[in-house]
Amino acid sequence: MIGIAGVSAGQSAVPAGKSATGTSTVYVECGALWDGKAEKATPRVRIAIAMPQGKIVSVEAHQKNIGLGTASGSVAHVDLSNQTCLPGLIDTHTHILLQGDITAEDYDVQLLKESPEYRTIVATQNARRALEYGFTTIRDLETEGAGYADVDVKKAINNGVIPGPRMQVATRALDVTGAYPLQGYAPGVAVPHGVELVDGAEEARKAVREQISYGADWIKVYSDRSYRVREDGVLDDIPTFTLDELRAIVDEAHREKHRVASHAMALNGVHNSVAAGVDTIEHGNYISDEDLKTMAARGIWYVPTIFVGDYVARGRAEAGAPVWLKMVGIHEDTFRRALKAGVRIAFGTDAGGFDWGIDPAKEFGYMVKWGMTPLEAMRASTSSAAQLLGIENEVGSIEVGKFADIVAVTGDPFSDVTVLERVDFVMKGGVVVRER
Ligand SMILES: [Zn+2]
Repeated sequence: MIGIAGVSAGQSAVPAGKSATGTSTVYVECGALWDGKAEKATPRVRIAIAMPQGKIVSVEAHQKNIGLGTASGSVAHVDLSNQTCLPGLIDTHTHILLQGDITAEDYDVQLLKESPEYRTIVATQNARRALEYGFTTIRDLETEGAGYADVDVKKAINNGVIPGPRMQVATRALDVTGAYPLQGYAPGVAVPHGVELVDGAEEARKAVREQISYGADWIKVYSDRSYRVREDGVLDDIPTFTLDELRAIVDEAHREKHRVASHAMALNGVHNSVAAGVDTIEHGNYISDEDLKTMAARGIWYVPTIFVGDYVARGRAEAGAPVWLKMVGIHEDTFRRALKAGVRIAFGTDAGGFDWGIDPAKEFGYMVKWGMTPLEAMRASTSSAAQLLGIENEVGSIEVGKFADIVAVTGDPFSDVTVLERVDFVMKGGVVVRER
């Protein structure tokens, strides 16, 4: 069983240097440890964590019956000797302000009939769910019409007001007039939009400046829409931005030392995004070999979000868009070509695009089914994802100096990656947030 003293569940660690009346050490004993990088797990490892900083101070093979007394401060002991420990998982594509959008109606009702305040309250529940599933860090890729609410959720988590993962946020996202819901209402009816609409390079630059000033860590763009499978099997689209607009966005974001995530599902959207120099391609159901080559050469990340595509396909086909069923097969072929081309791939799920009651760790099984080894899929959600976020010195692996973001599972994720859908234990910054 898990014995814990000196730390309290459900609270964020006290920031270093703030009201720290004394230091203490938390020891976590793992039956096996996979550190986020190595080829395999190491049996019987003890992790020592300095509190209140919540950082790992040692990782070593453990002897049985460790002494729990130390010279100074208090000590807590977490017994996970029947479990495999891993770094806290990272989901690089979530929407905590969204509750599923299989059909246009699902989406519209959230913007038309729910206030941003109500949606934010629900988002705090989603943030807690993400953490309890084992995702100790997320990149939330836009609020779908809820303004800058993601910035406030992140702030509330960082201030210890509510439990939740570490967050990087994209705020409102950008698209052009006529390309993003809500659509299809009479011209005289003013409706909200799920993004900030911009037309022309200057407007786009201004919106980037505005979003960064209000707390955006990432700029999110929607680069394509209206998907259609060509006779040769290529997934075609209508690109939203002109290359000139997209280049202006990327240039402005990079100038302000921020990065750009591009929703790009098909031929032209991906190609323009790569040409404009975005940092991550989201979804990428179809990517040409030429663009995969460029992505590999320039280190542009691919965040494939496989599960959500399968999840929404049937419902969207029934609502009159059968292309979504064909897109799943095209996606698998692209994923396999990306693996072969050596493109950097990070774990991202689009959670919120499916119900938050579903564990986003389902994505692992899909990645493995489509050709990754369990090791590759787990790296995609730990050390690689941390690299995508630019915080690989803080999280993504269990190493001295990193935050003690740790999950534990029963069973061997190397032989069955789906055990990650049943996380037993979650620690964030040395604080236990879930144990069962
Ligand atoms: Zn998304």
